[in-house]
Amino acid sequence: MNCDLLVVGAGIVGLAHAWAGARRGWRVVVVERDAACIGASIRNFGFVTVTGQQRGAHWRRARRSRELWAELAPQAGLRIEHAGLLVAARHEASEAILEAFLATEMGEGCERLDAAAALARQPGLRAEGLRGGLYSPHELRVESREAIPRIAAWLAERHGVEFRFGESVLEAEAPHVRTSRASYHTERVVVCSGAELHGLFAERWTPHALSLCQLQMLRVKPPAGFRLNAALMADLSLVRYEGYAALPQARPLLEHLSAERHDALAHGIHLIVVQSADGSLVVGDSHHYGPVLPPFASEAVDRLILDELHRQLTLPSLEIVERWTGVYAVSAEVPCLVEAPDPRTRLVMVTGGTGASTAFGLAEEVLADW
Ligand SMILES: Cc1cc2nc3c(=O)[nH]c(=O)nc-3n(C[C@H](O)[C@H](O)[C@H](O)COP(=O)(O)OP(=O)(O)OC[C@H]3O[C@@H](n4cnc5c(N)ncnc54)[C@H](O)[C@@H]3O)c2cc1C
Repeated sequence: MNCDLLVVGAGIVGLAHAWAGARRGWRVVVVERDAACIGASIRNFGFVTVTGQQRGAHWRRARRSRELWAELAPQAGLRIEHAGLLVAARHEASEAILEAFLATEMGEGCERLDAAAALARQPGLRAEGLRGGLYSPHELRVESREAIPRIAAWLAERHGVEFRFGESVLEAEAPHVRTSRASYHTERVVVCSGAELHGLFAERWTPHALSLCQLQMLRVKPPAGFRLNAALMADLSLVRYEGYAALPQARPLLEHLSAERHDALAHGIHLIVVQSADGSLVVGDSHHYGPVLPPFASEAVDRLILDELHRQLTLPSLEIVERWTGVYAVSAEVPCLVEAPDPRTRLVMVTGGTGASTAFGLAEEVLADW
C-alpha cells in the first residue's frame, strides 16, 4: 500500500501529525498496535494547559496547540468540558511566585485574585488559609477517553486518514515499512510511539538518558450539584510546573514545602482537578520515576492526593469511582524531542506530562521543518 505519510501510534502525538499531514493534502495512514489507543493520551486529565508550561518555545507551542484544539473541537464534534485555570494560593511564599509570573510575558491575560475573588470564582474552595490565587483564561479541558477516538474518527471521515488498529510496526526504513500485518511504501514516516523506549529506533533515544514517569489518577463523584468552574491547581503545582517553578521566586516555596509537605513532595504529588460532563472530578496526580515501573497503584499515594483535594475544596462527601495509572517518557533536559535518523523519517516524543497541551503545535513545527 502507498501513502505520503505513515504515522506510527494513534496517541495524541500521532493524531496531531496525521492532522497536520492531512491538511497538506497528503495521503496519511496511521498504524496503531493496539485495537484502540489506550496509552497516556486517554489516561490524562485532558487538560490543555498553557499557563505554567516551560517558558519560551514550549509555552508558545502550548499557546498554538490551544488555538488548534479550539479550531478542531467544533469540527470534530468534541465538547470542551470547561475553560480556564484557577491556581489557589495558601502559602505565603506562593504570592511572590504569582506576582513574578504575572510580570512575565506568560502572565498575559491572567489575573491576580485576592481570597474573596478566588472564592467568587470557585464556590466550594476552602476558605481557611486561602490567600488568593491566579486565574488564567487560556486553558481548555476535554474528556480524553472520548476525544482521542473522536479525533481519529473525524480524521478518517473528513480527511480520509486511514487507520490500521491492531497492527504493530516492526521495521521502518522509509520508503519501506513492515508491520505485523502488511507492507507499506511511504514518502515519509513519523514515529510517535509514546513511552516506548525500547522499540523502533531505540538507539536514537539512548543518548538522551530518558526515563519513565508513572502517575496515579482518580475519578471521584462529588456531592450532587458541585460545579467546577475551571481547572484547579494549588501551591504544590507552583514548584512542579516549570513556568512557575523555574522562576527564582519559587525557591523559598520549595524550601518550605520540602519541610512542611515532605510526603507529598516525596511522591511528586501536586493537585490538578478537572470536571467531566457527568459531574465527576478527575483528580491527580503523583509522579514516580524509573526505568521500569511496577503497575501497582499505592493506596497511601491515593490518600495523599485526596488529602490535597480536601485541603483545597470543601466536599462533604466523595465517592471514588475509578483509579488508574499512566506512564510517559521524561527527559531531564528538554520537554520534547524530534530526531531525524534519515531524510524521510522523524521520531517525535513529548518527554514530560504535556503532550495533550503541545502535540498540535509540535506537529506543525515538525512538518514545517521537514
Ligand atoms: C496520567 C497522565 C496524566 C497526564 N495529564 C496531562 C494533561 O492533563 N495535559 C497534558 O498536556 N498532558 C498530560 N499528560 C501527558 C500526555 O498524556 C502525553 O504527553 C501524551 O499522551 C503522549 O502522547 P503520545 O501519542 O506520544 O503517546 P501515547 O498516547 O502513549 O500513544 C503512543 C501510541 O503508540 C503506539 N505504538 C507504540 N509503538 C508502536 C509500534 N511499534 N507500532 C504501532 N503502534 C505503536 C502505542 O500503542 C500507543 O497507542 C498526562 C499523562 C499521563 C500518563
